[in-house]
Amino acid sequence: MRSKWNFIWMLFLASPLCAQTHLKEKMDEKALEIEPKVIEWRRDFHEHPELGNEEVRTAGIVAAHLKALGMEVEEEVAVTGVIGYLKGGKPGPTVALRADMDALPVTERVDVPFKSQVRTVYNGQETGVMHACGHDSHVAILMGLAEVLASMKEDLSGTVKFIFQPAEEGLEDTQAETWGAKQMVEEGVMKDVDAIFGLHINSQTPVGTIKYRSGPAMAAVDNLRIMVKGQQAHGAYPWSSVDPVVTASQIVMGLQTIVSRNVNITEIPAIVTVGSIHGGVRHNIIPEEVEMVGTIRTYSESQQELIHNRINEVASKIAESAGAKAEVGIKKMYPVTYNDPGLTEKMIATLEKVAGQENLVQHDLATGAEDFSFFQKEKPGLFIFLGGMPKDGDPKKAPSHHTPDFYLDESGFILGVRALGHLTLDYLGSK
Ligand SMILES: [Zn+2]
Ligand SMILES: [Zn+2]
Repeated sequence: MRSKWNFIWMLFLASPLCAQTHLKEKMDEKALEIEPKVIEWRRDFHEHPELGNEEVRTAGIVAAHLKALGMEVEEEVAVTGVIGYLKGGKPGPTVALRADMDALPVTERVDVPFKSQVRTVYNGQETGVMHACGHDSHVAILMGLAEVLASMKEDLSGTVKFIFQPAEEGLEDTQAETWGAKQMVEEGVMKDVDAIFGLHINSQTPVGTIKYRSGPAMAAVDNLRIMVKGQQAHGAYPWSSVDPVVTASQIVMGLQTIVSRNVNITEIPAIVTVGSIHGGVRHNIIPEEVEMVGTIRTYSESQQELIHNRINEVASKIAESAGAKAEVGIKKMYPVTYNDPGLTEKMIATLEKVAGQENLVQHDLATGAEDFSFFQKEKPGLFIFLGGMPKDGDPKKAPSHHTPDFYLDESGFILGVRALGHLTLDYLGSK
């Protein structure tokens, strides 16, 4: 009897299932060991934030770290991006992990010893520079994971591609055609990748929580600009004008009917916002033209197409009815952040194990956007949110991203290392 159990136990030890279990235990131990270094790296990046496509110091530290781990490294990808390849000891697929590196033109108000003192001139205005979206933590988490995975390299089945991406927040030059994830994709970064994982820390989600959503998760963003052209006249003789102010007002009201009357909001919502109207210089002159700019948020390509068409029709036909002309310009910025349902389904068990079932939450559709979406357009991807708010914090009161008081609880980082680490192991092991 005893020898039979011994035999079964020996079989188990030799099985791939057992190897995976050992690897995961090792992963958790190593993650715990690396935590102080992750926090140290993050504080250093926080104190030395760099704007989009200027992440030279950050990229230098990342590249040196990956090289020290024995990885093949590519630098200056899409301006300041860094890529590292960790080839496992066994054959298998390639999984990419992404961290964005850029900071924002925000003046830090948080009183921490590693507070940013960096200042710059942005769009002609003096401002501080701050990691006010938490990308410093993303870089530190991925550097930590790179070290952990490098230590178990021989046991990995496949390749891990570490993508350190610049300029997620966009550039100061709003006329630029490409940057960040889009530019990396154009440079072929996703060609040898089978799947991609990424995370975003969140200052209003408690430490220990992971949020995810299958399918559309964050909105596609398009910039809208409408020029209404009429005919100038004295404000006291409006009958001799084609008034672009009145026409623009009608167009703003008309645009409100697109979401309320053309979109099936029981399926999925959408947003059309006019955020700025400019026209005229003085009380008694009806101007020749009015400029309106706004933002469009959608969650599917068909919905996006419908809304674009309706904006064109509504604006041009209302203008025509007034004898004016509306020139509509829509610039596609970021696609929808779409978590591949098959991949998400496969990875839920992993996330449950890492965070604990009660700490894994499905999030609502987010109206914000992420350029991680460009990677997901190429290959299946999963983008998750990681809690960064102190456990006893109030989500309604915790300072939001992009504000001077933005704050992260560093004890949340280790779950990020473990989550991306376990996703990687399970993905590589599952093929
Ligand atoms: Zn941001
Ligand atoms: Zn961000």
